[in-house]
Amino acid sequence: MAQTTSNHTQNVSGWAAHDSSGKITPYNFKRRENGINDVTIKILYCGICHTDIHHVKNDWGITMYPVVPGHEITGIITKVGGNVTNLKVGDRAGVGCLAASCLNCEYCKEGEENYCDQLQFTYNGIFWDGSITYGGYSEFIVADYRYVVRVPENLAMDAAAPLLCAGITVYSPLKDNNLLDSPGPGPGKRIGIVGLGGLGHIAVKFGKAFGHHVTVISTSPSKEKEARDRLGADDFILSTNADQMQLKRRTLDFILDTVSAQHSLGPTLDLLKVKGTLVIVGAPEKPMDLPSFPLIFGKRAVKGSIIGGIKETQDMMDVCGKYNITCDIEVVNISQINEALDRLGKNDVKYRFVIDVAGKPSGL
Ligand code: NAP
Ligand code: ZN
Repeated sequence: MAQTTSNHTQNVSGWAAHDSSGKITPYNFKRRENGINDVTIKILYCGICHTDIHHVKNDWGITMYPVVPGHEITGIITKVGGNVTNLKVGDRAGVGCLAASCLNCEYCKEGEENYCDQLQFTYNGIFWDGSITYGGYSEFIVADYRYVVRVPENLAMDAAAPLLCAGITVYSPLKDNNLLDSPGPGPGKRIGIVGLGGLGHIAVKFGKAFGHHVTVISTSPSKEKEARDRLGADDFILSTNADQMQLKRRTLDFILDTVSAQHSLGPTLDLLKVKGTLVIVGAPEKPMDLPSFPLIFGKRAVKGSIIGGIKETQDMMDVCGKYNITCDIEVVNISQINEALDRLGKNDVKYRFVIDVAGKPSGL
C-alpha cells in the first residue's frame, strides 16, 4: 500500500508500473484534498519522457513502486484553493517535474527551486505531508500553485505538454549561457545538440528561433533529412562517423548533450572551439567517460543542468507562445502506453509520445 495521509480522500484512476519489468497497468489510488495553496487539474495530456523509462525500469535504483510516471502535464484547472490568486477555474495549466521545495533557501528565493536540496518531484517524490507523489499518467492531479504554470492560448495542449520537462530542460542551459537571443544583427553562435530525441528536437527549435547556427550530432543517419528540412538544422554530424567528427573539430561554441545512454564525452568535446562549453542534461545510469586531454588542450568546460525554476518555466512557455514553438509529437491513447515506452526505449519516436489521458477509456 502506498503511503498516503487521512487527507487523501479523492479516488483517482491512474496507470502505474509495479516492478522493474516496467509494465504499466491500471492503478487506482488517492490524492489529497485540494488545500488552500492547491489547484486541481483535470489532465488532458501527458508527455512520455525518457526519465519515465529510467523510473519504471528502476535504472537509477531509486524507484518506489508502484510508480505513476508523468511530468509533462497539461490540463484544465477545476478547483483552486483560497490562497491562489494567479490561477482560476477553467485556466489552461501545466505541471512539470517539481512538486515541492523548501521555499526558503537561497535557490528557492531566487527562482531556482530546481536546485533546492529538499526538492521533491511530481512522481516518485515525497510531498510535504509525507505522501508519495504520483504523476500525470492519471485523470487529475492536485498541485501546489507555486509549481503550476499557464499554457499560452495559442499553443495546442497536446504539443505543448512536453515543454513542461523537455522544453524547460533545454531552455535553461541556453539561458544560462546567454544564448536565448542572438547577440545583435548577424548570425548568433554555433551551437551543437547531441541526441535528436524529445529534448534534442526542442533544443534545435529554440536554437533556430534564437538566431543560432545549429548542428545536430546524432547516431541516427535516418534523422538527417528531417533535422534539416523540418526542424531547420543547419548541419548534421553522424557521431559514429569518425571522418565527419574529425572534419568538424573546433567548430562549435556550445554543445548541449541530451543523450540518455552511456557514451564518451571526448569526441564531443573535440567539436568545441577553445573555451567552449558542453552542458550535460542527459542522465545515463552509468558514469560517462571524460578524458582530460580534450578538456585541457581546449580549456573547455563541462557542466550539468536540471530542468529549470518555475518562473523560468513560465518565461519559457511565454517564449514558446511568442515564437509559436511546440513539440513534434505522436499522440497515443492509454492502451498504447507500454508500446510507446518500448518504442521510446528503442529510439523509435519523432520526437515525443504524448498520452491522450482524457480520451476514451481503454482496455489496458
Ligand atoms: P529520448 O527522446 O530517448 O532522446 C535521447 C536521444 O539520445 C535519442 O533520440 C538518440 O538520439 C540518443 N541516443 C539514444 N541512445 C543512444 C546511445 N546509446 N548512444 C548515443 N546516443 C543515443 O530521451 P529524452 O526524453 O530526450 O531524454 C534524454 C535524457 O535526458 C534522458 O536520460 C532523460 O532522463 C534526461 N533528462 C534530463 C533532464 C534534466 O533535467 N537534466 C530532464 C529530462 C530528461 P540520436 O538518434 O539522434 O542519436
Ligand atoms: Zn522529463
